[in-house]
Amino acid sequence: MIEITNLDKYYGSHHVLKGINLSIQKGEVVVIIGPSGSGKSTLLRCMNYLEPIQSGQIMIENEPIGMIEHNGKQREMPQKNLNKMREKVGMVFQNFNLFPHLSVRDNITLSPLTLGKMNKNTANKTAYSLLAKVGLADRATAFPDQLSGGQKQRVAIARALAMKPHVMLFDEPTSALDPELIGEVLDAMKELAKEGMTMIVVTHEMGFAKEMADRVVVMDQGQIIEAGTPGVIFTNPAQERTKVFLHKVL
Ligand code: ATP
Ligand code: MG
Repeated sequence: MIEITNLDKYYGSHHVLKGINLSIQKGEVVVIIGPSGSGKSTLLRCMNYLEPIQSGQIMIENEPIGMIEHNGKQREMPQKNLNKMREKVGMVFQNFNLFPHLSVRDNITLSPLTLGKMNKNTANKTAYSLLAKVGLADRATAFPDQLSGGQKQRVAIARALAMKPHVMLFDEPTSALDPELIGEVLDAMKELAKEGMTMIVVTHEMGFAKEMADRVVVMDQGQIIEAGTPGVIFTNPAQERTKVFLHKVL
């Protein structure tokens, strides 16, 4: 459902993604690992069109996304198509990014209501059922600063799910959490994976990768240096750089 071909991304003259090719099937859970600065976040941000790309192509469900730059000129994607594409791609960030002035429920209903995807009644019902799913049925009227980090992140997951995305991107969703709160967020993600959600997860939680990943993709210096099942990547990686990285994180 996602096809990335020959993707190149620069920040100014800094070449941060170098010829990325990656194909992701519906229902697949792909975990991306690799050293700091290797381009993991940038790759996710390109998939959600938060960053323009300079060459190559990203297709989501057979539709190309991403603004193409040619000779310094950018070809804009029409806003309507962009919104439609973004609805398909949910994203969860390291730092939750909840709206502090909105209740938990209103954080979840904001996008569906603003984009006219649901009426208020349906949006509220959806919010309550998603909160129940992530174990926060009783916190709908709380505000973000009344929640623990693990609870905030579960709200962020519920908020992304409210748009009924076809794929979910997670960028180090547990990195900002105290160790005792990591498990509750990983459990919510596992639940989602078991329901068949297509997921792309950047994480340092190798336990999650081993248990849930259909495929582990290893990035280094803007390239995918190898990819394979967790069994292969964690026990018998082909690349020396993968061994060095795993030695540091395992
Ligand atoms: P980490 O594990 O630390 O999160 P990462 O693999 O997610 O690292 P990216 O954040 O994608 O790495 O960064 C890839 C490269 O792009 C790095 O060299 C980084 O300094 C650079 N970079 C990232 N964002 C920007 C930006 N907005 N402007 C300029 N350079 C950037
Ligand atoms: Mg990152």
